[in-house]
Amino acid sequence: MEKPHQTLHGVLQTIENAAKLAGRPDGVKLLAVSKTRSAAEVAVLAAAGQRAFGENYVQEGLAKARELAGLGLEWHLIGHLQSNKAREAAQAFDWVQSVDRAKLVKALDQARPADRPPLNVLIQVNIDDEASKSGCAPAEVPALAGAVAAAPRLRLRGLMAIPAPAPDEAARRDAFRRLRQLYDQLAASHPGVDTLSMGMSDDYPLAIAEGATLVRIGTALFGPRG
Ligand SMILES: *Cc1c(COP(=O)(O)O)cnc(C)c1O
Repeated sequence: MEKPHQTLHGVLQTIENAAKLAGRPDGVKLLAVSKTRSAAEVAVLAAAGQRAFGENYVQEGLAKARELAGLGLEWHLIGHLQSNKAREAAQAFDWVQSVDRAKLVKALDQARPADRPPLNVLIQVNIDDEASKSGCAPAEVPALAGAVAAAPRLRLRGLMAIPAPAPDEAARRDAFRRLRQLYDQLAASHPGVDTLSMGMSDDYPLAIAEGATLVRIGTALFGPRG
């Protein structure tokens, strides 16, 4: 078994190589997806230098963030957010990557504490139009982005998506390209936009080649989830 810091180093090396090839040597950030992992496992990666962690559930993320409050970590919510959890999410997280409807924008903006910096927001896009998935339709992005940008306690940073599982690389590449186009259009009308969150353990080098600026990695860092 590799030790956690060796695994982290390997993933960072893969990111660096892909980013160099894409002509953006310092342009890609690693989000360590720590859902189902213990606070102790997070602490080990933090000790190896990893700062940003992603969680799918508000309660689980909140518990770990509290337990590790002294470490100065950055917490991202990447799972579907129910409106009745928006208040807690706005208090516990530094980023919410799963904003996909206007109701959430309002709830997060109202709940973000005044003594914290504005909450960083990504709009989640249902890029493959899957009936079962969260995320807004691509056509809804401009209006939702406008609402986030107008909210004083929120900061619009970009887009997040989970493309449909695809049998072949060409189909994955195509989904990443469509996201990149949507992202470029968004960035053209909102100067603060700097984050395109796409790519997971199975496909992050490809996502980086197609323009990802943040990759969300669980399994490749922590091993298979039980
Ligand atoms: C679980 C999860 C990931 C990480 O997936 P791995 O395949 O373990 O790297 C990334 N993004 C989201 C939204 C997830 O739910």
